[in-house]
Amino acid sequence: MAVPKRKTTPSRKGKRRSHHSLRGVNMLECPNCGELKLAHHVCGSCGYYNKKEIIDKTESDEEEKELDT
Ligand SMILES: [Zn+2]
Repeated sequence: MAVPKRKTTPSRKGKRRSHHSLRGVNMLECPNCGELKLAHHVCGSCGYYNKKEIIDKTESDEEEKELDT
């Protein structure tokens, strides 16, 4: 087994891990329906992106409601 030559000090460990934190996801309000959506993604609730309907959500929403009940 490989053994490290020098001990990693708590200071070095902390400095390395200073870049490890994750940032929150960038949620924006959909300009079409007002729901929160991920930036640069098609809206999950209405299926619009760049003012155009990309995914027809009217049928799939009804299917999801039927599955929930
Ligand atoms: Zn939307």
